Amino acid sequence: MTAPARTRTSADLIRAEEPVLAHNYHPLPVVVARAEGTWVEDVEGRRYLDMLAGYSALNFGHRHPALIEAAHQQLDRLTLTSRAFHHDRLAEFAQRLAALTGLDMVLPMNTGAEAVESGIKVARKWAYEVKGVPADRATIVVAAENFHGRTTTIVSFSTDETARAGFGPFTPGFRIVPYNDLAALEAAVDETTAAVLIEPIQGEAGVVIPDDGYLAGVRELTRRRGCLFIADEIQSGLGRTGRTLAVEHEGVVPDMLLLGKALGGGIVPVSAVVARRDVLAVLGPGSHGSTFGGNPLAAAVGTAVVSLLETGEFQARAATLGGVLRDGLTGLVGRGVVAFRARGLWAGVDVDPAVGTGREIGERLLAEGVLVKDTHGSTIRLAPPLTITEEELGTALGALGRVLEG
Ligand SMILES: *Cc1c(COP(=O)(O)O)cnc(C)c1O
Repeated sequence: MTAPARTRTSADLIRAEEPVLAHNYHPLPVVVARAEGTWVEDVEGRRYLDMLAGYSALNFGHRHPALIEAAHQQLDRLTLTSRAFHHDRLAEFAQRLAALTGLDMVLPMNTGAEAVESGIKVARKWAYEVKGVPADRATIVVAAENFHGRTTTIVSFSTDETARAGFGPFTPGFRIVPYNDLAALEAAVDETTAAVLIEPIQGEAGVVIPDDGYLAGVRELTRRRGCLFIADEIQSGLGRTGRTLAVEHEGVVPDMLLLGKALGGGIVPVSAVVARRDVLAVLGPGSHGSTFGGNPLAAAVGTAVVSLLETGEFQARAATLGGVLRDGLTGLVGRGVVAFRARGLWAGVDVDPAVGTGREIGERLLAEGVLVKDTHGSTIRLAPPLTITEEELGTALGALGRVLEG
């Protein structure tokens, strides 16, 4: 018999995964056993500063007391009904999430990819029933280097060969244009276009921030050409960039917003399509659904997340500390950093390839007690919990400086 997990070392546990766990990830060699706030602890009791925050699923840090409390209370009362019945948590969640985002109606789902899939279905149905596109002819325009998730339909319009290879045949009906290029978008949109689907900031691509005016331009173009603007804010939304939504930096309200990751407070998967009433109204009973979407536990945690964001405190922290992050990274340019892009507490840092790959920098930072994740090549992403202190941010930047010096 094998020993209980708690007596096994990190190395044992990593070895034990190999024969039984699909190899679709290549994690850094750390085995996390507990966490609180900005800090995680491995099975040997070593502590690390979390500068990834679950790809922004942990915007409020690990086990935020208000979120844990909301989850505990709900666990003790009601966890699942399915949507066959009403439950007493869903109306408030939808009402407050819609109010927070400036939109009207909510379709609750679970994972980000499900929100994207649902948004695509809604946009297509809207194109046929409202816009009058001939049956099965609707197109959706997307951006190159996008990341919207991992389902068959979503990887159909990915430009990342690793994400696509071996998974065809793919779903038709998508047109790919360069990101941050309004002229290309203008040329790709026609009478079949249901929607333009973009990330306001491309996270997985390396925190790629479009030029000022791009998002406002997409809004103007989609309105003028009669198609929907769908903003995938699954990673950029909910405080990360210093605003509730990244589109707010350009004062833009899309027709449809896709949320996920931080909406579940790092506790449960919670995602949502939030849209104008006349758009989401195309869904009637039976046309779409999810056994777990909008379940009582998800709604309770999601409502607690909305409560935290209603105060504006986390958006303000991200904006203020984002300045500290930017200053720190500016000081590293030419000292191992080639370039960086940052907005709020979110940065893509291009490291000099001579210093190391993103993966190698991640490994060296791990040894310094800091967790980061590379995106691709020599780019690392910094996205700490929005609860991080200025001192902790200084610790992380200091470690990055030391690692880059070699
Ligand atoms: C993570 C992410 C998704 C997919 O979310 P999952 O919960 O992993 O399915 C979609 N879009 C963006 C922008 C993301 O960052």
